[in-house]
Amino acid sequence: MNILSSTIFAKGNTKNIIFITIDGLRWEEVFYGSDSLLIHSDNYTKDHDNILNEYWHSSTKVRRERLMPFFWNTIALQGQLYGNLQEGSIAILKNPYLFSYPGYSEMLVGYVDLTRNSNNKENNPNITVLEYIHNQPGYNNKVAAFCSWDVFDFIINEERSGIYVSAGMEPYEKGRKNPKIGLLNEIMLQIPVPWKSVRYDAITHNFAKTYLEEFRPKLLYIAYDETDEYAHEGKYDQYLIAANQLDQYISDLWNWVQNNYYYKDKTTILITTDHGRGNEDIDSWRNHGSSVAGAENVWMAVIGPDTPSEGVMKNHDTIYSSQIASTIAAFLGIEYQNKRTVSPFIKMMFND
Ligand SMILES: [Zn+2]
Repeated sequence: MNILSSTIFAKGNTKNIIFITIDGLRWEEVFYGSDSLLIHSDNYTKDHDNILNEYWHSSTKVRRERLMPFFWNTIALQGQLYGNLQEGSIAILKNPYLFSYPGYSEMLVGYVDLTRNSNNKENNPNITVLEYIHNQPGYNNKVAAFCSWDVFDFIINEERSGIYVSAGMEPYEKGRKNPKIGLLNEIMLQIPVPWKSVRYDAITHNFAKTYLEEFRPKLLYIAYDETDEYAHEGKYDQYLIAANQLDQYISDLWNWVQNNYYYKDKTTILITTDHGRGNEDIDSWRNHGSSVAGAENVWMAVIGPDTPSEGVMKNHDTIYSSQIASTIAAFLGIEYQNKRTVSPFIKMMFND
């Protein structure tokens, strides 16, 4: 099954999905590794010697492998990568806002609701694919979300959906009996975090992995965030380190999955981002939003038992973040129909 081919509902081999988002990581770094101008800029990269040593190489092939070794040594060989504009692979957002809540809502709900136009903690009136699947027979309490950013409680509408959502600085109560989680809950509050509404991705990753081990979810959503924070702060070195670390987390999940009897060869990992970033001049990478050219471009990566090993996808029809919801459902053999809470704006934006 190809990604985003939501018309195919024949049961495949996928019984479980790990859906992952990396906030604001540009397709440019995914496909080409560190940016020559930014990594050599004194403004944006402080620790030159170390960072150049770790992430720079004149060959694009080597450079991208240094930044994201799992993407290039495993996904590119066994899965698919979408969004390389220079290869005619266009993956874009349909929402006009090009920031986080609208982007996550678009991909999780499967259409654009123009009322989702702020990052405020407002419950999403729309039903996400997580909630839709949670309501299918056999999926009750088999869907969970671990998210670094605290607004996810509202994007997913934890209250209405009944899905377990662990987001922001809230302790992971469900895992409390596990000694590792007890410690993580404590140090999460002890280590000062530079951001108000975000916890470190290392905490999110370990919470999520422990949940996987203990509760065996069929659909697990993990939302990492640090890349976007460092980009806004203009710390290109930290942005690269975060991207590299996230690649390692995903590698860690895939290796765990492929060594676990319950998940091995029955699990698809799908990865994307909520928005791109500017690419017009040396400073625009820090920002995104409706006025930032390039912020509409995203990327997607997929690996699993139903996905042909085609590597970097080239010259295909444009794909949209709004197709992700139905794709997640299709992998599980479920037809995603979500018209119940369609806002009137949808009719304006979509021909459906
Ligand atoms: Zn941002």
